Amino acid sequence: MKLATRIIHTGHTIDPTTGALSIPIYQTSTFAQESPDHFGKYDYARSGNPTREALEETVAQLEGGTHGFAFASGMAAISSALLLFSPGDHLVVCEDVYGGTFRVLTKLFSRLGIESDFVDATDLAAIEAAIRLNTKGIYLETPSNPLLKIIDLKGAAELAKSKGILTLVDNTFMTPYFQRPLELGCDIVLHSGTKFLNGHSDVICGFAVVADKELASRIRFVQNGFGAILGPQDSWLVLRGIKTLKVRMEESQASAVKIARWLAEQKRVTNVYFPGLPDHPGYDIHNRQSSGPGAVLSFTLDSYELTKKLLEQVELAAFAVSLGGVESILSYPARMSHAAMPREERDARGITDTLVRLSVGLEDADDLIADLDRIINGPD
Ligand SMILES: *Cc1c(COP(=O)(O)O)cnc(C)c1O
Repeated sequence: MKLATRIIHTGHTIDPTTGALSIPIYQTSTFAQESPDHFGKYDYARSGNPTREALEETVAQLEGGTHGFAFASGMAAISSALLLFSPGDHLVVCEDVYGGTFRVLTKLFSRLGIESDFVDATDLAAIEAAIRLNTKGIYLETPSNPLLKIIDLKGAAELAKSKGILTLVDNTFMTPYFQRPLELGCDIVLHSGTKFLNGHSDVICGFAVVADKELASRIRFVQNGFGAILGPQDSWLVLRGIKTLKVRMEESQASAVKIARWLAEQKRVTNVYFPGLPDHPGYDIHNRQSSGPGAVLSFTLDSYELTKKLLEQVELAAFAVSLGGVESILSYPARMSHAAMPREERDARGITDTLVRLSVGLEDADDLIADLDRIINGPD
């Protein structure tokens, strides 16, 4: 079955006890047991809740995995996966990794003796060169945030396998609708479900998905032990959000392509970063491993004054942190997602003061372009 069908027929769309076409919100913390000799499937809701489980199995299935785990945020999912590592372990991480991930790696996991090296992972040789005897994981994001750099996932996974180390991929920007890293040989897929998976800017949540039993039991141990689980209300909202994943992703992507092409033609726009443009350096690799460029793009303007004017005057996109909602969101990486990164580090990575990121929502693309045009090409 095609993914569009699997999104609707997940095997978890009908409540087994009542036939309800929507999985109920099991708002309970515990489950009564019949006998000390025999506990039911559920005992305490940190360990398992039927609403959360329906969501976890849905996300696992869409990613082509066998086990999914829902967490209270994307950072909770990412941090829980990083808790698989131990003091003395080393990680190779793509350099323009999500700012929050950069922060936990450099300020928290480093304190626990887990070291990270940040490399330009668009170059497999750079990943290989950074691998040491104690390297236990390669951590990637493609397209990366906010510069939409493309990393060869299959190549990286093969390299990791040859060295016996894990590949972790943050798949937030693509969602399984466009890209499924497990099918390319990666080991752990991570998500901020807050973004496109839920899609409605009303829940903070995260996921980890694997296709390996042993790895699944290690993540389950952290999920249950560390306890950063997603609650049943939020699980239900995300289940509902996912039902429209296909139409949201297709529509937003079509608008993103149109907007990226328009931006590329504007004199005051100095760079457009979008893997849907044929001159993007990662265009071929992206097309090999994904079925679309997605709905996030970044661009730079010719001055800080114009950048500020855009962020202050834009009407049809919210100027906000986050992405992946039904409403377009314009964000400013230098002071938002990457505020935790030192300035020199940011500038060196191209996350300059004139860079803005646009997450395209479900508004009419021509209206969005008219709004940008009014500001970018209007009088100073
Ligand atoms: C938002 C985001 C995260 C963090 O997720 P939260 O749900 O905000 O904790 C991680 N990775 C990427 C790529 C993101 O966009």
